[in-house]
Amino acid sequence: MPQVPTVAELETSVSLNEIFYSIQGEGLFAGDKTVFIRFQGCGLRCVWCDTKDSWPFQLPSGKMQTLGSGIGAQTVGFQDFVAKPLTVKEIVSEVKRFENATNICITGGEPLQQPKAFRALVRALSAHGYDIHVETSGAFTLPDRRNPNIPHWVMDIKLPDSGMWDRNKFENLQMLTGNDAIKFVTASREDFEAAVGVLENFQDITAWAGPRDQEERPWIYFNPVWETCQPSDLAEWILGIDAKYDKVRMGQQLHKIIWGDIRGV
Ligand code: SF4
Repeated sequence: MPQVPTVAELETSVSLNEIFYSIQGEGLFAGDKTVFIRFQGCGLRCVWCDTKDSWPFQLPSGKMQTLGSGIGAQTVGFQDFVAKPLTVKEIVSEVKRFENATNICITGGEPLQQPKAFRALVRALSAHGYDIHVETSGAFTLPDRRNPNIPHWVMDIKLPDSGMWDRNKFENLQMLTGNDAIKFVTASREDFEAAVGVLENFQDITAWAGPRDQEERPWIYFNPVWETCQPSDLAEWILGIDAKYDKVRMGQQLHKIIWGDIRGV
């Protein structure tokens, strides 16, 4: 049973970028109806980042951010963006406006950069029965994997073309289970080869953590960088990957195929 959030948790402030309701574009739940809660603030600077307005942790308050009002609602443009802190209680209330939604994606920015707010929000949403998955950069140590309120992690490994390779915390890989996914956003053939190198080492990590059968191992997703990697090239590289990687999938940013490269969808 999910634990009920405390009053203090409900009043916890979250530096928030946007909330919107859309189709999950990638990963384990691609195609699912999902409410996205995007945290403000990220200490990384991925070259191909498509949410650069989420980088500053907190911008001056006092101006309202527009929250998404429906499927495909574009929330804010980069130029007029001002991050707005909301309490956990206010966020839950925003989420509940999307009456048909059962899935939540907590993303960023980097959600784990606000650990107290993150924990409080997860607990509050879980108490309302939402199915939650969390997207994280892989640059922060994952919280205790046994937390039943976080059923699914989607963790990036930053490949060299992102410029953030040194920020990976590879020890996080041993925290992932069959409910989770590793995501490689791939910009080039060199990136792809670096990813395969990580998978080779990952075999060592899992062996160190103890034998794991197929159900216990995380899914592995390759996504092409929209601007620099032809999906057909990535598909060809994946088809050549060693058969021992049996939980490998190719993803595409479905939301960009549907609506184009805009925000809030
Ligand atoms: S970790 Fe995510 S939000 Fe941060 S710079 Fe990279 S892509 Fe952008």
